[in-house]
Amino acid sequence: MASELHVLIVGAGIGGLALALLLEKASISYEVFEKAPEIKLLGSAITVSSIMQIFEQLGMYEELLELSRPFGALHVRDEKLDYKGTFWSRPPGDDYEGLYGDYPRVIARPDLINLLLSRVPAKRIHYGKRVLTTRQDEDEVTIKCADNTAYTGSLLVGADGAYSSVRQNLYKELQKAGHLPKVDAKPMGYSFDCVVGISDPVNPDDYPVLKEEFSEFEIVLGKDVPFTVWYMPMTKNRIGWMVTHDVRDLGTNVERNMRCSEWGPDAALDVLKSVSHFKCPYGGSLADIIDITPKEMISKVMLEDKFFSTWYSGRTVLLGDACHKMLPFAGQGANMSILSALELTNLLFDIHSNSQEEITRVLKEYYAARYELAKWCVGSANQNGAMLHRKGTVGDFVRYLFLNWMPQWLIKRVTDSFHVYRPQASFIPFVKVRGSFKTYSNKPSRRMVPGSSIPKSV
Ligand SMILES: Cc1cc2nc3c(=O)[nH]c(=O)nc-3n(C[C@H](O)[C@H](O)[C@H](O)COP(=O)(O)OP(=O)(O)OC[C@H]3O[C@@H](n4cnc5c(N)ncnc54)[C@H](O)[C@@H]3O)c2cc1C
Repeated sequence: MASELHVLIVGAGIGGLALALLLEKASISYEVFEKAPEIKLLGSAITVSSIMQIFEQLGMYEELLELSRPFGALHVRDEKLDYKGTFWSRPPGDDYEGLYGDYPRVIARPDLINLLLSRVPAKRIHYGKRVLTTRQDEDEVTIKCADNTAYTGSLLVGADGAYSSVRQNLYKELQKAGHLPKVDAKPMGYSFDCVVGISDPVNPDDYPVLKEEFSEFEIVLGKDVPFTVWYMPMTKNRIGWMVTHDVRDLGTNVERNMRCSEWGPDAALDVLKSVSHFKCPYGGSLADIIDITPKEMISKVMLEDKFFSTWYSGRTVLLGDACHKMLPFAGQGANMSILSALELTNLLFDIHSNSQEEITRVLKEYYAARYELAKWCVGSANQNGAMLHRKGTVGDFVRYLFLNWMPQWLIKRVTDSFHVYRPQASFIPFVKVRGSFKTYSNKPSRRMVPGSSIPKSV
């Protein structure tokens, strides 16, 4: 048995990098394997909310504030730009900041990736390592990459996104042994094609919305066409945008799955042709925003969702989109993967030995702590997507009720539920959680209690 716990992380996305950074802080040995030859700085807006205290503990809070803007609201319009209603993230009259300490923040995905990367030693990340197969036994786990290299460790974390190769290998192994639940063998639900981008910096006099304190999203719904366009003011005077194409009626198309299952520049411009004439709430049309967006910052992906019920077996565990792929309409994908990275690191910091039995205990606790909220987020993102995209009179009516008549107490209850649990890294000093709302947190590790003589066991 390997004497020291050594974690192999597959995937240097937000989940993998957050885990790397936390393991680094916890002095737990790890390596990251990323298939791309370098980090892909793609994507548009990401929302972070109940994880601000972790960034504060890590001394990254001020940087996060600087790179992000507080999220204010989501205004919905029809194709003619007639106003349909608003979903307020800070309901008028509520002292959101006083209550929860921080507003949710909107950050460009490339900025969040760079922020995480800045705290992970470069030597820990191996690029150009597409993991193809995995093998595990009682004592260790081994990954094999496309370049014929192999690496061995005591725990393998699949943070390799929605089409996780770690998950596929794990599930193959479980299926062979007759242990894979049927629900996990089913394909993901394929709902939307999506194209995202971030503009170059623009003159805020031309886009006064950039001078506002809050980032208020504008959503334009296609009338007879299944497209919506999102505009998201970002820091550094940039505009993030997203076009979604509702393809739920088309069903799952395997050929499309093969071609467009990864975030990438392929075929993005085809989708955009259908909507570039849509009027933009800032003036002009979407085409004007596309024009000020560097082509290499535009990417396309098929949006699928699924909550997988099997997250671990043996010395392998999944994290982030690899086990709970959600649509972006609840703004929780990055949040959930960072929270999982935290939970896993806290448990590993206190692990008693490197035995299979102890690893299984830790992975069981990790799943128990994370699955409920992750499952709820997958479901609510799906419902938000359906509410926003539903066509016809019923769709108009449901949206009207949601945007204009949702009672304040209900909005508050949902917001409360995101803030009830705000965990911290158990292995560094805790910070005071801001805001008057009563929050439940975890406890510092027993090894962190002053005077503790409990040794690091692994
Ligand atoms: C390029 C990109 C752009 C995105 N843009 C947006 C956006 O605009 N808005 C939004 O809400 N969400 C976006 N997302 C999704 C969002 O980042 C995730 O939902 C969330 O952050 C959870 O991240 P994750 O780390 O679990 O997975 P991901 O962010 O998908 O990261 C997975 C990582 O694993 C790597 N990988 C995959 N397979 C292998 C393999 N076999 N071997 C080694 N490495 C592998 C991938 O290259 C990637 O770096 C984007 C994701 C990506 C990858």
